Amino acid sequence: EGVLYVVATPIGNLDDLSPRAARLLGEVDLVAAEDTRHTSRLLRHLGIAPSTLSLHEHNEAARVDQIDARLAAGQSVALVSDAGTPLISDPGFVLVRELRARGRRVVPVPGACALVAALSAAGLPTDRFLFQGFLPAKGGGRRGRLEALAEREETLVFYESPHRIRDTLADLAAVLGARRVVLARELTKTFETFLEGSAEALLARLAEDPDQARGEFVVMVAGAQPKAGGDASIIEADALLKAMLAE
Ligand code: SAM
Repeated sequence: EGVLYVVATPIGNLDDLSPRAARLLGEVDLVAAEDTRHTSRLLRHLGIAPSTLSLHEHNEAARVDQIDARLAAGQSVALVSDAGTPLISDPGFVLVRELRARGRRVVPVPGACALVAALSAAGLPTDRFLFQGFLPAKGGGRRGRLEALAEREETLVFYESPHRIRDTLADLAAVLGARRVVLARELTKTFETFLEGSAEALLARLAEDPDQARGEFVVMVAGAQPKAGGDASIIEADALLKAMLAE
C-alpha cells in the first residue's frame, strides 16, 4: 500500500531542501502541489520531472478520493506547498485528516518552516508560544483578535504579508502597547533581516526605510507579563488560611 509523504520544501534558500526530501520527490509516483507551476521550478532545479497534480484550498476535498485511489493501488504521493511545511498556513489538512481516517499511511518529511526558523533566532521565549497564522485582513477583525490575545503570556507568532505589515504593526501598538516585537523578514534569503523594538518604533523604522517593508514576515510579540497573584490566587490563599486556622 502506498504512502502519502508530507514534504517540507525551502522557504527561500534551495539548499534547505533535505536530501531525503529530494530523494522522495524523485521516487514518488505523484507530487500533489499547491501550485504546480511554482513547484515545477523546484523540481527542475532538482533535475527531476515527476507527474504533478494541483491541490489547493478550492479543490482539496475533491482531490481526496483521487489521491486515496493512488495509495490504494500501491502508489506513493508527495504533498508539497509553495514554501515550507504543508498544512502550516497552507493546504493539506483536509487531505491528511481524510487519509488518516481511511487508515492510510501519512509520513512527515520535515524541513523548513518559517515560524520555527523565526522563533529559533529571535531571542523571545520559545518554551511556550502561540502560533496564530495570518491575522484577519480587516482592521476590526484584526484588533478583535489581538484584544482576545492580550492576556496570553506565551510568545505570540503571526504570519504577515508586505501589504498589511504596517497596518498590523499599528494595531499591535494600539492594542498591545509597548511590548517587545521581533520582525523576521525574508528568512533564508539574501536580504534576511531581524528587526526588534516596540511596534511603534518598528513602524517608524519601516517608514524611514521602505525596503524593510518588502518581502515576507514572521511577526513575534512578547507575551503579557504574568499578573502578580491574580484574584483567583488571593481567594485560594484566603480559603487555605481559613482552613488552617480552623484546624
Ligand atoms: N507553510 C509555510 C511555512 O512552513 O512556513 C508558510 C506558508 S504561508 C502561506 C506564507 C507566510 O509564511 C508568509 O506570508 C510569511 O508570513 C511566512 N513566510 C514564508 N516564508 C518566509 C520567509 N522566507 N521569511 C519570512 N516569512 C516567511
